[in-house]
Amino acid sequence: MSRTWRGTALGLLFPESPRCVLCGGALAGWWRVLRGPELCEQCLAGVHAVSEPMCRVCGRVRQGALCADCQRESHVFFTARAYAHYDGIAEQAIKALKYQGKRELIPIIGEWLVETYVRYHGDDRHMLVAPVPLHPVKQKRRGFNQAEEIALVLSARLRLKTARPLARVRLDQSQTTVTREERLRAMEGAFALNGDFGADAVRGREFLLVDDVLTTGGTADACARVLFQHGAVSVHVLTVAR
Ligand SMILES: [Zn+2]
Ligand SMILES: [Zn+2]
Repeated sequence: MSRTWRGTALGLLFPESPRCVLCGGALAGWWRVLRGPELCEQCLAGVHAVSEPMCRVCGRVRQGALCADCQRESHVFFTARAYAHYDGIAEQAIKALKYQGKRELIPIIGEWLVETYVRYHGDDRHMLVAPVPLHPVKQKRRGFNQAEEIALVLSARLRLKTARPLARVRLDQSQTTVTREERLRAMEGAFALNGDFGADAVRGREFLLVDDVLTTGGTADACARVLFQHGAVSVHVLTVAR
């Protein structure tokens, strides 16, 4: 059987050659069309994974056991861990998902979360996966909540339960505030308990907050505060980037 013949047959079966979801570059190997969305090697090399040592609370790298910020003031959440630094391809991928609606990236980014969860939480399956909610107005505008979409990949892959214990009750301004005080004030009252979920479902439970990016930790702290106020026993945070 000639190579050309086989090539033609495959070309008929898979007329589209597989391409990188992010840059559009061709992926070697026709079989990759069967594997679902992928990033090319070049893009993958541009993802800068977070590595140890890191602050044991907020996960900031190249710091002692506790970073300077966490020594000064403690976070409300127990720990925050992320897959990658928020730069390069990780940043591009998150922005393409959020602002260009590239939903093909959801399984790829979701898989990064799975890897991060397993690395830091092992086979713990007690946590309820709680995506950080968007304000309904914002979610309507975007059409989806990226945190929820990637949280669903995580919970499906690891058979974790998903929960929506929180609601975003205030349409926030972007977090460009300088001091921690200002950040805290900006987030005050931004989240509340989701009425459909109820306080009984929060009491005594362990939560894993999922979001795309952790910056100051202010959003995660505000969410954790609401959960603890209603009797949660632990709140950990998992983000794609930080
Ligand atoms: Zn690429
Ligand atoms: Zn820290």
